[in-house]
Amino acid sequence: MSDFSTQAFDLKSLLPPFHTEKLPSGGFYADVPAEINIRGLTVRELKHLTASGRFDKKVFDQTLASCIKEPINLSKLLLQDYNFIVYCVRLYSSGSKANGRKQCKGCGSTYNFEYDLTESAQVKFLEDVLPISTSVNLPRFKEQFGFDVSAEVKPLTRGDYLKIDRAISQASELASKTGQPMGSYPLMELLKAYIISISGLPPQIPKDQLLDYLDPKEANLITNAYPDDAFGLSGKATTTCPVCTTEQEFVIPFTDIFFQ
Ligand SMILES: [Zn+2]
Repeated sequence: MSDFSTQAFDLKSLLPPFHTEKLPSGGFYADVPAEINIRGLTVRELKHLTASGRFDKKVFDQTLASCIKEPINLSKLLLQDYNFIVYCVRLYSSGSKANGRKQCKGCGSTYNFEYDLTESAQVKFLEDVLPISTSVNLPRFKEQFGFDVSAEVKPLTRGDYLKIDRAISQASELASKTGQPMGSYPLMELLKAYIISISGLPPQIPKDQLLDYLDPKEANLITNAYPDDAFGLSGKATTTCPVCTTEQEFVIPFTDIFFQ
């Protein structure tokens, strides 16, 4: 008979092991560390994600945070870093085999296929300091009113994404209730997420009011102030239609879709 009483048991030692990973922002953005330690999910944690019968993004982020050794605020992470963490947790939870679904552009049939995550994914690391914000000049104000107006813009975080996502679902719910088109509300939310402040405006004009008058060119200047392919995770897999053998490219969605 073995004597349990003399041994110390810590079930936590059975948790999936941690792996040290360098984040795409590589220690070059705000106070986000260059490296963190990430582990895979336990079966219980995986089950918990869909316990309520639907995929809850908040529960997902809480679960994700418990897979990181260091205390980290996921909502403050840039989307690139966040997606990379999702990818690592997915990899350490259930390996590199993944499934995709695609509609064939040749014959129109929809099919499932398998691909290898590690073979198809590429991480690009930031190599220089990414400023916390950058100034975007809005030239029409100078032309029409004679004063300089500029927007202070920041890159998007997971927290911003969740806000925009919520706005889009609210807007589409409203649209289906009223039968009216969705309108520009989600675009406004997107711009609001990018813009920290606006300088040069006369005090009687609030920032939100100005957003209603931005033209598509100005909206582009704001949303493209930070190139979103300078660093981060990307990946494509080639798939072959089982019916007509047409080859197609599949862009891997490096988001919480992996777990849904
Ligand atoms: Zn086909």
